[in-house]
Amino acid sequence: FVTIKNAAKSFGTLQVLKDINLTVQRGQIVAIIGPSGSGKSTLLRAINELDPLTSGEVWLEDVRINEKLPFRQYEAHVNQVRQDIGMVFQHFNLFPHLTVRGNITLAPRMLKGLSEAEANKLAEEQLAKVGLSEKIDEYPSRLSGGQKQRVAIARALAMKPKVMLFDEATSALDPELVEEVNLVMKQLAEEHMTMIIVTHEMDFAASVCDRVLFMDQGVVVEEGPPSEIFENPRHERTRNFLRKHL
Ligand code: ATP
Ligand code: MG
Repeated sequence: FVTIKNAAKSFGTLQVLKDINLTVQRGQIVAIIGPSGSGKSTLLRAINELDPLTSGEVWLEDVRINEKLPFRQYEAHVNQVRQDIGMVFQHFNLFPHLTVRGNITLAPRMLKGLSEAEANKLAEEQLAKVGLSEKIDEYPSRLSGGQKQRVAIARALAMKPKVMLFDEATSALDPELVEEVNLVMKQLAEEHMTMIIVTHEMDFAASVCDRVLFMDQGVVVEEGPPSEIFENPRHERTRNFLRKHL
């Protein structure tokens, strides 16, 4: 469903990703864990071309996301494929000058040509899902971190993406707000949304994900079901990391 083949990425002389291969099946939930600087965000951002790969391929179903095209065609192609890929970042990235409604309806209106009424209906549905119906006319500055992050998830879902990418969606939150966001992600998991989740929360990864990838220094050191990775890691580097993070 999502396929990454021989992915490599350098920033100047720094090689950040080295020959990464990854296939995520439809409905699968994959966690990516690993030390700071190991390339987790870069890999996630390569999937939607925010950080294009130096070499290798990224596919979503039968569409090559990082297709080599002349600039104008490339822009149109990337705008198209990004509609299928929802992304939620560590810092909420809501538009501060728009209400919650405005944040959620913007992309469906601009990119999918939905009418105001259709987009509003969508916003109401998605907000109900994340438990924030009453905040629809609020501005982001008046929401808690957990609420902002739930709006960011609702905004991504409003595009009806085929896959959702989460880059440490809860690591900027106060501890008491983490659970409300995790609950929304668990609910998505139950609905079989395909998800790739970069996280520092091992308990969450263990309880929600089908597979865990451990990355270090730009390579996938090992991967497997949470039971294997957390209870019986094969590699010393994985064991070392888990000793510090469990
Ligand atoms: P963290 O857990 O701290 O978020 P990460 O695993 O997400 O770490 P990345 O953000 O993917 O790590 O960064 C991997 C490496 O690439 C780091 O050494 C980082 O300094 C470098 N890097 C990331 N983005 C850039 C950039 N735009 N230009 C230069 N180097 C970069
Ligand atoms: Mg990161």
